[in-house]
Amino acid sequence: MKIHQCPVCQSSFEGRKNKLYCSTKCKIEYNNAKQAKNMESHRKFLHGFNRNRKILQKIHDVFGDCTLPSYLLSQARLDMNCTNMVRNSPNIQVSDFQLRYINQENYQIIKIKL
Ligand SMILES: [Zn+2]
Repeated sequence: MKIHQCPVCQSSFEGRKNKLYCSTKCKIEYNNAKQAKNMESHRKFLHGFNRNRKILQKIHDVFGDCTLPSYLLSQARLDMNCTNMVRNSPNIQVSDFQLRYINQENYQIIKIKL
């Protein structure tokens, strides 16, 4: 037995070494708050992702598949946190648009068929 402090209600309680919460009520409260936070970050990601896709669609409507200077992407306020990052690849994907890394100054925008 060990003395713990409940992270939800801050009360001290005695329990098994791995016991985290003073009560089921606090455990449920903690998990609900955690889930709400996850859903909020997921909602933010989806919002940014859809916004990114619209930006890339607008750019693609004007220029088609082409090479784009990196500064144009940052000026268009593309949110790099809301993309399908390809692991171990400098390429960026947002839905059906791929930004292929050419060099620090340039990306190639390609609309891919899904
Ligand atoms: Zn508690």
